[in-house]
Amino acid sequence: MASKQKLIGVDLGGTTIKFAILTTEGEVQQKWSQETNVLAEGSLIIPDIIESINHHLDLYNMSAEEFMGIGMGTPGGVNRADGSVSGAFNLNWDADHKVYPVRDITEQTGIQTYLENDANVAALGERWKGAGNNAKDVVFVTLGTGVGGGIITNGKLVTGIAGGGGEIGHVTIDPDGYECNCGKKGCLETVASATGIVRVARDLAEQYAGNSKLKSMLDNGDDISAKDVYDLAKEDDVLALQVVDKVSMYLGIALANQANSLNPEFIIVGGGVSAAGDFLLEHVNKYFLEYTFPLVRRTTKLKLATLGNGAGVIGAASLVINEGE
Ligand SMILES: [Zn+2]
Repeated sequence: MASKQKLIGVDLGGTTIKFAILTTEGEVQQKWSQETNVLAEGSLIIPDIIESINHHLDLYNMSAEEFMGIGMGTPGGVNRADGSVSGAFNLNWDADHKVYPVRDITEQTGIQTYLENDANVAALGERWKGAGNNAKDVVFVTLGTGVGGGIITNGKLVTGIAGGGGEIGHVTIDPDGYECNCGKKGCLETVASATGIVRVARDLAEQYAGNSKLKSMLDNGDDISAKDVYDLAKEDDVLALQVVDKVSMYLGIALANQANSLNPEFIIVGGGVSAAGDFLLEHVNKYFLEYTFPLVRRTTKLKLATLGNGAGVIGAASLVINEGE
């Protein structure tokens, strides 16, 4: 039997854990998922993952010897030295309580396990099998409930000295801006996440007096989403277009400055908000071109992510190849 030719990718999230078995070329052969049980201070999560992997290997008649490794993406702060995670609040793993997924999963599945932050893992996935074309220099930004990011330069993930590398969501775009969950002011996340876009809409609506469906929805106290803002902008709602323009300016500045520093081949935009598609990208690109200097403007391209929710398991699996070599 051929040995060590498969990978396992695990994408651990606050509501769902996604699993995949892949070839070393990144082709998904099997995938499954289960709910994340965050009860008992999240103490059941790692045992659940181990049980699920062992159960599915049994089910597919596979043995540990066939696997090169397991890669996992997780929320929270990853300590690469001891393979631990802390401060993943959506998993109920608090800052003082360390969890050791690398040690526990490796010991109880018999397969070497590698760990990385979830946004970084999504960046690796998009770079390897998505919009990144396997380029050596790629920046990834994800616009969802928060704004996350990952930076790959010369084929390597930028983690920084303490794991804070690639946190594009906390780049300052307005020194007098809104307060961010991180404790600082004016972060990109405060205006370009799904909730941030709605916040910008509410602010602009206060000063807006013309005709607008978005304005009447906000005045009526309707619950609006970032998707509503983009959908209305596509229908030429004047206020919605103003919101999109402002958010695009902030994103354009933040991404242009990433490009001015790193000159990647691609900057890939993903996450739920990116479902607004080419419309979103075109508006951001207008400002991106304005704020990049000529060499970067000619060579760094903005692109939409292509893997959606699948980026996590694929990128996680790629950790095995990148770190196992
Ligand atoms: Zn912040």
